[in-house]
Amino acid sequence: MLVESLNTDYDLVIAGGGLVGGSFALLLNALPGHQHLRILLVDSSTLSIETTFTGRPYDARSTALSWGSRLIFESAGLWNDLEPGLEAIRDIHVSDKGHVGAARLNSDAMNVDALGYVAENTHLNHVITGALMDSAHISVCAPASIVKVKPVQGGVLLMVESGTQAMTQVSSRLLVIADGGRSSLCEQLGITLTRKPYGQHALISNISFEKPHQSCAFERFTDTGPLAVLPLPDLDGEHRAALVWTLEDAQVAQIMALPDAAFLAALQQRFGYRLGRLTRVGERVLYPLNLTLADEQIRPGVVLLGNVAHTLHPVAGQGLNLALRDARELADIISDAAVSGTPELIGDYQWLQRYVQRQQRDQRQTVFFSDQVTRLFSNNNPLLALGRNIGLMGMDLIPPAKQWFSRQAMGMTDRRIDG
Ligand SMILES: Cc1cc2nc3c(=O)[nH]c(=O)nc-3n(C[C@H](O)[C@H](O)[C@H](O)COP(=O)(O)OP(=O)(O)OC[C@H]3O[C@@H](n4cnc5c(N)ncnc54)[C@H](O)[C@@H]3O)c2cc1C
Repeated sequence: MLVESLNTDYDLVIAGGGLVGGSFALLLNALPGHQHLRILLVDSSTLSIETTFTGRPYDARSTALSWGSRLIFESAGLWNDLEPGLEAIRDIHVSDKGHVGAARLNSDAMNVDALGYVAENTHLNHVITGALMDSAHISVCAPASIVKVKPVQGGVLLMVESGTQAMTQVSSRLLVIADGGRSSLCEQLGITLTRKPYGQHALISNISFEKPHQSCAFERFTDTGPLAVLPLPDLDGEHRAALVWTLEDAQVAQIMALPDAAFLAALQQRFGYRLGRLTRVGERVLYPLNLTLADEQIRPGVVLLGNVAHTLHPVAGQGLNLALRDARELADIISDAAVSGTPELIGDYQWLQRYVQRQQRDQRQTVFFSDQVTRLFSNNNPLLALGRNIGLMGMDLIPPAKQWFSRQAMGMTDRRIDG
């Protein structure tokens, strides 16, 4: 529910209503006890839902959602609205250019409808924002920014700047910081980040192929670094896919400068002809790649969620999926405190440590998976190339290895989805 005026006291304030902050609010909203909490979500953007899904621009940006994220969106009550706009991933083909090793992961083998889904970001945002606005229990203040945070006994004091109310002071037992990769709030709190540059950029673009993708996603390791091709819905009869191509910093200028035809030829040479000829490339956008981890994820009265807590290499498609699992655990812990009639616990450091303990294994494994696998496959050392080819062949032949890789890709590393 969009609000114009703010109260002076909340139990929970969420800074940032992006994919992570918004999903977290809705996950909590679907759990018992939420109605005992006064919840405010603040976002600097308009969070406009007028961006109704009125058609797909060719260049729409997209995100790969794991099967595990589907289960999380189901529990937040969002899945029925999300599903019609998604493209299923039923197969994942992993290969290494110039080598025979390859592995194919398949949804039938895992007894699921799909290994994951590709969602256009406008569609995801539209569904999440729509649900936030419809919620009777989450107060949404946007556009507005939290410009100051000060830890105090029993929580935090915040200054919220909005167009309608200029500056308002608000107190909260807990502040969930979900304000993305460049967090001014963490800076104010003196929470430092450890950043490891990959020396690479991700080149993102939508591309078209001669043949339909048949719901297959491709992960291919090339001389420039790994590239991912994700299936998108056809548009005006064109077979569209989303490209995430990792390039060494030194190669970026040259590849970006290529005219479209030469760019497609360079990509085709690396990707091969599995989907026939490449026929089109849309706008090309670059992202510098770093692994960034916050040195602390909790403080008394404060939790970090999403990109502010961990920003991963995008080629493995794990960043949002991991953040959704974090969001679900945090929502559970807050719900437990509310149900037991002790809302004062939600900002308590010892209580928040439960969240860290529950998620640290998943976070470590996922960071390791996306970091080490990407580094291994970005390396042209012939011995490493041989090793990873043996690994890919082995993975295709050894069912437990294949199951392990499939489960990582499906976001099923955590205890609850494991059953
Ligand atoms: C090229 C690329 C491809 C990717 N592909 C995948 C993929 O396939 N699968 C996957 O799982 N992940 C993927 N990711 C990662 C995924 O995009 C991120 O994990 C996700 O977007 C993080 O969302 P967030 O909500 O943490 O941050 P953001 O989306 O940055 O949201 C932050 C929000 O906070 C608001 N805000 C900022 N400051 C304030 C303030 N002071 N007060 C109030 N509001 C504030 C902003 O307006 C914004 O809405 C990819 C990332 C990139 C770069």
